[in-house]
Amino acid sequence: MLLAQERAAVVRYGRKLVAAGLTAGTGGNLSCRSPETGMVAISPSGMDYGEIAEEDVAVLSPSGEVVEGRRKPSSEWAMHLEAYRVRSDAGGVVHTHSPFATVLACLGWEIPPVHYLVGFAGKRVPCIPYVLFGTDELARSAASALGEGNAVLLGNHGLLAVGPTLSRAFATAEEIEFVAQVYYRTRCVGEPKVLSDGEMEPVLAKFAAYGQQ
Ligand code: 13P
Ligand code: ZN
Repeated sequence: MLLAQERAAVVRYGRKLVAAGLTAGTGGNLSCRSPETGMVAISPSGMDYGEIAEEDVAVLSPSGEVVEGRRKPSSEWAMHLEAYRVRSDAGGVVHTHSPFATVLACLGWEIPPVHYLVGFAGKRVPCIPYVLFGTDELARSAASALGEGNAVLLGNHGLLAVGPTLSRAFATAEEIEFVAQVYYRTRCVGEPKVLSDGEMEPVLAKFAAYGQQ
């Protein structure tokens, strides 16, 4: 089987996506890139995460041909491949419809540095305007909004997160959902104190070496 490790990771993190409350139903998708071949293992379209087996995970070439897999790949395959194209450092991509990130995306609000954990993504999380799901236009718009950052809100849709590994992309999606919730709740009762550039810079420096390297 091609990309056995990457496919197993997609199955495992798909289940975690549901367990962590980061998606509803079959919403969202995730992928993992092989550092050796550049091929991408991506979740199948519209399947219950609890029922996905490794054989259901599609393997795509960097240009989007299905190389192996018995299922249709995620409808957002172009967004994943475009994120890998613009970010040669990325090894994993996670797209969620997590509740608070989606609320902000439906308001068209970016997430400012209201809590230092926004540093998983960068100094802020930008929000792109609404674009129809599964289109090349969404792929281009989302990937170009990433820049050097690791997450972007997709207007009236959800969140896209990238990372050097699928594990780190997942952690970013989870932390940004937490920060989105904090931002939403602070805005319900007042005006949050937003961290300055000078306060965020050392956070980003520390995150570069955070956790088990
Ligand atoms: P897929 O089930 O095709 O991955 O689509 C879910 C989704 O979130 C589309 O944006
Ligand atoms: Zn979606």
